[in-house]
Amino acid sequence: MANLEALWVASQVQPGKKILASEQAHYTHKRISAVLQLQFESLACNALGRMDMSALATRVARGDVGTVVATMGTTATGSVDSLSEILALREEHGFRVHADAAYGGYFALAGNLGEEASRSFARIGEVDSIVIDPHKHGLQPYGCGCVLFRDPTAGRFYKHDSPYTYFSSAELHLGEISLECSRPGAAAAALWTTQRLLPLVRGGEFARGLENGRAAALAFYERLEKDERFATAFAPELDIVIFAPRAKKVSEASTLSRRIFDAAAKRNLHLAVAELPTEFWAANLGSMQRDRETITCLRSVLMKPEHLEWIPRIWDELSAATSEVLGAAGASRSAR
Ligand SMILES: *Cc1c(COP(=O)(O)O)cnc(C)c1O
Repeated sequence: MANLEALWVASQVQPGKKILASEQAHYTHKRISAVLQLQFESLACNALGRMDMSALATRVARGDVGTVVATMGTTATGSVDSLSEILALREEHGFRVHADAAYGGYFALAGNLGEEASRSFARIGEVDSIVIDPHKHGLQPYGCGCVLFRDPTAGRFYKHDSPYTYFSSAELHLGEISLECSRPGAAAAALWTTQRLLPLVRGGEFARGLENGRAAALAFYERLEKDERFATAFAPELDIVIFAPRAKKVSEASTLSRRIFDAAAKRNLHLAVAELPTEFWAANLGSMQRDRETITCLRSVLMKPEHLEWIPRIWDELSAATSEVLGAAGASRSAR
């Protein structure tokens, strides 16, 4: 709903123009664009899962782009689009920039990001709109999403003269108006209360929790890199790690990923599977035959502060599950 509001306002400001997002952007942008009858296009990603900046530069030069969605942490890999470069292109071409920070927004508070992600988050206040999901890293139950507009006069698009609703002040107040009409205030009150207890400050307790998740992802990634059973993609930018078991072919690695996923779940280690372009592995696939363009890989989201402490145990369970699967695969090969 937050992204819907943002794209709706974008379409009011830039009528008839296109919405652009990367191939790794959340599927909601394409879907919401269809709901709003806006033209949507997706742009290629580079090998780090970020929007390809030269593809963007070429595309916006055609002049029909109204809004570029910058994903500040993709849902699949936690890749952060290069916001500085997107903002530089905005200067030149005048499109709007909408930051989808639903997943990654809170990482603006983390002090242990890589250089490029830090550079992107440092400029997040310059975008035209931002969405963020407090039900992801913000400690809220599902159903808490937020949208922020840089220009408060965006409120004019919501204006109406119905005689039976009123605003509490003469000025249009973005907190009081939304596309949904009556809404419960519980989610907002819960978020407000949480933020009183755990203020959104760098170096604070809440920020330390995010930093732990990021440190856990780095520690997990380091172990994977050192183990020849696994092929890692790029290093995590936030707290999500993607990796695949090594095999002769990408298709075999994909089958093994699903088996490891099942074997790990039986050990109470709940990973995720993702279908991602093999380019994300760059040269890391080594001699693995690329018989498919995408690879079914494993994905681990280390989003709880406790995950840092749990890394040795997570590793042991993953390692045991993997040995079990690879052992069985080896046995069935030699039996043939
Ligand atoms: C999760 C997510 C969304 C959608 O939010 P819901 O939590 O499913 O409502 C949109 N964009 C990104 C980048 C996300 O990670």
